[in-house]
Amino acid sequence: MSYVDEVFEQVKAKNPDQPEFLQAVTEVLNSLRPVVEQHEEQYRKLAILERITEPDRQIMFRVPWVDDKGQTQVNRGFRVQFNNAIGPYKGGLRLHPSVNLSIIKFLGFEQVFKNSLTTLPIGGGKGGSDFDPKGKSDNEIMRFCQSFMTELYKYIGADQDVPAGDIGTGAREIGFMYGQYKRIKNLYEGVLTGKGLTYGGSLARTEATGYGLVYLTEEMVKCHDDKMEGKTVAVSGAGNVAIYAIQKAQQLGAKVVTCSDSTGWIYDPEGIDVELLKDVKEVKRARLTEYAAQRPSAEYHEKKDGEHGVWQYKVDIALPCATQNELNLEDAKMLVANGVQYVAEGANMPTTLDATEYFQQNGVKFVCGKASNAGGVATSALEMSQNSERLSWTFEEVDSKLKNIMVGIYHNIDDAAKEYGMEGNYVAGANIAGFKKVVEAMIAQGVC
Ligand code: NDP
Repeated sequence: MSYVDEVFEQVKAKNPDQPEFLQAVTEVLNSLRPVVEQHEEQYRKLAILERITEPDRQIMFRVPWVDDKGQTQVNRGFRVQFNNAIGPYKGGLRLHPSVNLSIIKFLGFEQVFKNSLTTLPIGGGKGGSDFDPKGKSDNEIMRFCQSFMTELYKYIGADQDVPAGDIGTGAREIGFMYGQYKRIKNLYEGVLTGKGLTYGGSLARTEATGYGLVYLTEEMVKCHDDKMEGKTVAVSGAGNVAIYAIQKAQQLGAKVVTCSDSTGWIYDPEGIDVELLKDVKEVKRARLTEYAAQRPSAEYHEKKDGEHGVWQYKVDIALPCATQNELNLEDAKMLVANGVQYVAEGANMPTTLDATEYFQQNGVKFVCGKASNAGGVATSALEMSQNSERLSWTFEEVDSKLKNIMVGIYHNIDDAAKEYGMEGNYVAGANIAGFKKVVEAMIAQGVC
């Protein structure tokens, strides 16, 4: 049995109840085969794959808080510190009822390679809670965030582990957590990113993941002698990543005709009105029905199982920006039948493994999230640099660094795929390029 298969069997046996984590490990290990085969003896001796698939540590804790009715509620908190070979642990905090150890481990594992691809000195981690921020008052959110940080503060620090936002964790939640950290530690340090602009946040961080996704997509399109202008685009989601992906794609002359949330989707053949979408989602925190009510050209559809949602329309580019496993094989077939040419993931692992393979087999240029959504964490690392310098850079300065990083990532993954004889396989390219840097650092640092 090959070393990759041997380790995969061990990971499966140790984590039988973690399907999302196993899915991520399968994708990464499979595409690393050519690199691992070249160094099999050395990697085996140093147990590189065993070490890279086992987090440095996994912290789980109780988060008690009192709701507005005076009732005590209990949630479960997580922080998985996966690998710090190239820098302090870095990765978001997800607040969503679906959160469990498998999801946090899959996200932390992917984060290791993603952070490596940014070229910045950041290791990989992830955390969160099964707390559902939907429908909670600001005071309930604050009490939850304070309780969460009252435990988490023990394990994080500006040079140790620097969490950020993710699904359900936006500027409001980061603010409450930062306040509690400062209060407990009496330290004003860049321990979280995604902070507000008045207390150490970076300009362009809010836009970074969506903008970065489109910068990378634009570079890929250009490198295929094509242009963004005039392209029709399907986007899923209506959160932080989706909104700014829509905005940047439209600034570059593309027309985005869809967006979605967990209850339904919008088809707007005139192109999504991003200012209206921002008002509905960022200001009013309302459902997409509100968007449709104010926009005569838009159709709203309630989400139903077995339907293709935003993936049923004729588009050139698809950008899944909502959540994991939201684009399956049947959706991929529909997109291919409708002539999709480029797919780049804004969310983490939104495309199932069989759908990814279908895209690749049918000539669709497909980039996985660890490369195409790395703009968020890259800009978080730029926020850390600004905090260390105690300076703030302009929007243009941060945005231009972000664009350079995303263009660099595209060429890095393209070159890595070519070097290993897999031209155009950007999934393999991303995994290989991200892995090689981390492994070099791990080997240099000895067995630890
Ligand atoms: P948000 O919470 O801001 O938005 C998530 C969006 O996806 C919401 O519109 C949400 O709808 C929708 N959604 C969630 N679950 C489902 C579902 N099961 N079906 C359909 N729609 C769903 O999160 P972000 O935009 O920050 O994150 C989106 C993805 O991007 C995640 O995978 C995240 O890990 C990834 N990512 C985010 C980064 C960032 O900087 N924010 C960086 C890199 C990756 P509703 O409002 O109804 O819940």
